[in-house]
Amino acid sequence: MRTNLSVEEALEVVLEAAQGKLPVEELPLKEAFGRVLAEDLASLVNHPDQDDTAIDGYACRAEDTLGASLERPVRLKVIGESPAGRPFPGEVGRGEAVALYTGAPIPKGADAVVRVEDTRREGDEVLLFAPASSKDIRPKGDDLRRGEVYLRRGDLLTPGRLGLAAAMGHPRLRVFRRPRVGVLSTGDEVVEPGEPLPYGGVYNSNAYSLMGLVLEAGGKPVLLGKVPDEPEAVLAKLEEAGPLDLLLTSGGVSMGEYDVVRKVLERHGEVVFWKVRQQPGGPLLFARLGGLPVLGLPGNPVSSMVTFFLYGRPFLFRLLGRTDPPYGRMRARALTPFKGAKGKKVFRRGVLSVAEGTVRSTGNQSSGVLRSMAFGNALVVLPPDQDASEGEEVEVIPLTFVP
Ligand code: AMP
Ligand code: MG
Repeated sequence: MRTNLSVEEALEVVLEAAQGKLPVEELPLKEAFGRVLAEDLASLVNHPDQDDTAIDGYACRAEDTLGASLERPVRLKVIGESPAGRPFPGEVGRGEAVALYTGAPIPKGADAVVRVEDTRREGDEVLLFAPASSKDIRPKGDDLRRGEVYLRRGDLLTPGRLGLAAAMGHPRLRVFRRPRVGVLSTGDEVVEPGEPLPYGGVYNSNAYSLMGLVLEAGGKPVLLGKVPDEPEAVLAKLEEAGPLDLLLTSGGVSMGEYDVVRKVLERHGEVVFWKVRQQPGGPLLFARLGGLPVLGLPGNPVSSMVTFFLYGRPFLFRLLGRTDPPYGRMRARALTPFKGAKGKKVFRRGVLSVAEGTVRSTGNQSSGVLRSMAFGNALVVLPPDQDASEGEEVEVIPLTFVP
């Protein structure tokens, strides 16, 4: 077992374990939002499928309209109209025009369009007060070309990409099955909300904050409830958990007599590392139980969230083969001082303003104060042995991804 790893070393070990191949499933578009593509997607169509108009106006021959102006309008004969989806079947000859609406194909014979705002209709004729031009014609394939790959394996299906897949003509998408992530809380003192809180008890918040983080990272949380600090109970729960791609436990990985998670994993699995030189989250443990990777998160609510974000989220991204990074980094000016720690990389919680490029402390930075994660939107990263004073530039990891 390795111990006292740096954050970078620990992350490398965790990522190395994200090797398994997730099965692929095929979903209709309406169920594919937020999933990760398992195939490259080429367009089945050209878009537009032919030259079409980006404006409402009149299609005609540019040479007929040269020099058209308010003083010297050009008069054309209107031989038909064509809304989007109803192409004009004929051909536009000299001195003729067809009324077109946005998205309609440019009729045969025409090579230019004049905006409706620059015209006046008079019965079956139209007066043009400006020359027609081709600048508002969208050439065939301007947006999408048939056969070209626009979305790739590993791309997260964001709203824009889901729309793009539909525009390319795909009704169903092959995506990776969401990784199943077990969430197990440990601790004699941990009680489900809704039950009366005994003296010395604490409500199980970790299960729900972790559930949210797992969902946000593209995983499928499997809530395993809570077990007391008894090795048999922990083991029994792990055995009944069913197939998982990752197991998260919270609590029970510190030094104490009652820290059973570590003991059970030492005895029945293989502890790969224990303790990382960071704060919060120093007692983090990473193990294997059979083939199952286990992240033993410390029980303190802030520690469990921060360690999942720093290690669990990248693990899931790697497993899913995602092309986007698990989190971004930026620099911001500290509006408040931030305190570092001796020999440890520190992740303070901050309120980041991307617009202002500033970050301030959420206040009480104790790892038991969950409000810092509820109202903070960023981690302020301090290298070992370094404080940051007010006005200084600091490294920041936004908790919602800022590309
Ligand atoms: P541990 O890591 O087990 O030593 O727990 C550290 C602190 O986190 C203790 O104060 C626990 O009561 C608290 N804690 C542990 N598990 C949870 C949980 N599921 N929800 C909220 N607090 C917890
Ligand atoms: Mg405990």
